[in-house]
Amino acid sequence: MASDTPLYEVLALRFGTHAQRPARENFLTDEGQFAPGSQMPNDYYLWVVRNDRHFLLVDTGFPEEMARRRGRTLFRDPVEALGDLGTSADDVTDVVITHMHYDHAGNLDRFPHARIHLQEEELRFCTGPSMRHRVVRRPFEPVNVHTAVQGLFEDQLVLHRGEAEILPGVTVHPVPGHTPGTQVVRVPTARGWVVLASDAAHLWANIRLRSPFPILESLTPMLDGYDTIEALADGDDHVIPGHDPQVALRFPALAGAPDWTCLHEPAADGLMAATTAGGAVR
Ligand SMILES: [Zn+2]
Repeated sequence: MASDTPLYEVLALRFGTHAQRPARENFLTDEGQFAPGSQMPNDYYLWVVRNDRHFLLVDTGFPEEMARRRGRTLFRDPVEALGDLGTSADDVTDVVITHMHYDHAGNLDRFPHARIHLQEEELRFCTGPSMRHRVVRRPFEPVNVHTAVQGLFEDQLVLHRGEAEILPGVTVHPVPGHTPGTQVVRVPTARGWVVLASDAAHLWANIRLRSPFPILESLTPMLDGYDTIEALADGDDHVIPGHDPQVALRFPALAGAPDWTCLHEPAADGLMAATTAGGAVR
């Protein structure tokens, strides 16, 4: 990293969970790595990248109504939680949507003044003929797709075709596989380059085992994406998976706003290996 690269804080908000989740539902293949009947929860996050000059929201979570309808537990409304950081949805000027699944773009209509940064390929996918397949469209919500299209007509949507710089030094990178237009966010921090992998890697176990999450558009790009993410990050602890409960446990809480986790600070040692071994993955 160049010495004049601006540095940022990176915060994660764990706002919900899917607690009763069989471990095998988190992996495309079962190669005997799961203890019978073992559970492996998925948590829900959104992220903030900020310094004294800039504020960027990465994904928008989802509202209570979607949580109820889909059997997910919401700890708190993720948009209202921005108040912990002294801001509100009305003040947010830039939002990166990593992909259009409901748990990442679920509150898109609540950011009327923000530029919405999306990969062109993702818009094509969620408005295209793939959505005629129920199993493909299931993680999408029409209201979020409507909001994206409306944003397109009102100059709110910023479409990227590949890598792009969103803030000075902060870049998005397409990592297709989970969806064709999934993008990850690379941030320079005091501890090095951190990559918000979102659903390019749901859990640390997915990337460590090279065993993708089963909601998957294409397998080989997904696996290639793990290499891409690792090359962009400054180490294993610098890759932040999108749904791993360990994220909130391994990194320190933000002073005064303990629901937010500081990803720009070093992780606690050992938990990842211990939990991976002692949890559902043998
Ligand atoms: Zn997803």
